[in-house]
Amino acid sequence: MIRLLDLTLEQMRTQVQTWGEPAFRAEQLWHWLYARQANDPAQMTNLPRTLQAQMAAHAKIDLLQVVAKTVSADRLAHKVLFQLHDGQTIEAVLMLYDRRRTLCISTQAGCAMGCTFCATGLGGLTRNLTAGEIAAQVLYFARWLGDPDANGADSLPIMRPAQVTNVVLMGMGEPLANYKAVWQALHTLTDQQGFGLGARHFTLSTVGLAPMIERMAAEPLQINLAVSLHAPTDELRNTLVPINKRYPLAVLLTACRNYTERTHRRLSFEYALMRGINDKPEHAKRLAQIAHGMLCHINLIPLNPVRGSAFQPSTKADTEAFLNILQQAGISATLRLRRGVEINAGCGQLRQQIQLVNASG
Ligand code: SAH
Ligand code: SF4
Repeated sequence: MIRLLDLTLEQMRTQVQTWGEPAFRAEQLWHWLYARQANDPAQMTNLPRTLQAQMAAHAKIDLLQVVAKTVSADRLAHKVLFQLHDGQTIEAVLMLYDRRRTLCISTQAGCAMGCTFCATGLGGLTRNLTAGEIAAQVLYFARWLGDPDANGADSLPIMRPAQVTNVVLMGMGEPLANYKAVWQALHTLTDQQGFGLGARHFTLSTVGLAPMIERMAAEPLQINLAVSLHAPTDELRNTLVPINKRYPLAVLLTACRNYTERTHRRLSFEYALMRGINDKPEHAKRLAQIAHGMLCHINLIPLNPVRGSAFQPSTKADTEAFLNILQQAGISATLRLRRGVEINAGCGQLRQQIQLVNASG
């Protein structure tokens, strides 16, 4: 079975030729798949019947099966658990705030990085997603937003824009540990003949794989970079983000500085505030020293409590004090509202919940 979304345009040209069609049919097919988001060969009316039949017999478009959906109380955050062909499950969340339709997608089934506060990290890595499985998450929500019948039943009517405006690679998995598939998916989704969402509307979040950040700096596609810092000293970061032992702060921050120098683009640091762990004034002061003089923005995130983990979110007072210290020091910093917390919008949390339900059933 040919998985069409896993193919580059070049590979698609070869494929249609093996089906006995001229290579230009690949451009038409590409347009149907990504610009029109079609998932049935019968919809592709300008393709010859013979090609439609070949695809119906030998190709697969949909790579994701919906297992569970949850909606936040305000109906503005929609989370879907998908099953892949081999039974693996991954999550994606669509957030409908302001005029943005921001989609948070997964890049791996599980994650090998083992961050101690993360639901995905607790379960380990099963496998990398393919480029098609990454792109398919975006196509699923693009169809859903564009189809009033599909989204009318379980949500408010979707106000304009009824299309995905931003994509963040902040779901399950470490995107830079699945570099090739992630960048293929980014090239596919930004292609102007296809889905056509501009590179600047994408943000890749990494745990801090320093050599891969250096590699990313050389990519022509200008997507945004977020680095999950969570601690301002090696001693503390080693306990929260174990990969810090391999790429300690000095190495990571050098890669970040090289990245901003080379790209002239601001990066953001993610910092999840955990009560009594990394939220003291001395942590904020140390963080301000790190950020000083760097082309960066700091996103403070209230921790999402995870079942089976002792970490708790910081108090409101500690959170405000932390933010204040950064801002007083002249650092660009904001508190990101963790909307959709009540639907377990944190990465890996819906999967964890479903597994618990299955285990107890
Ligand atoms: N692996 C990448 C991207 C996926 S995680 C990374 O770590 O950056 C996306 C973001 O969610 C990261 O900033 C991660 O640190 C954060 N995160 C993970 N578990 C969390 C939790 N329980 N509460 C708040 N943020 C969490
Ligand atoms: Fe993996 Fe990111 Fe979770 Fe760490 S925070 S375990 S890198 S998904």
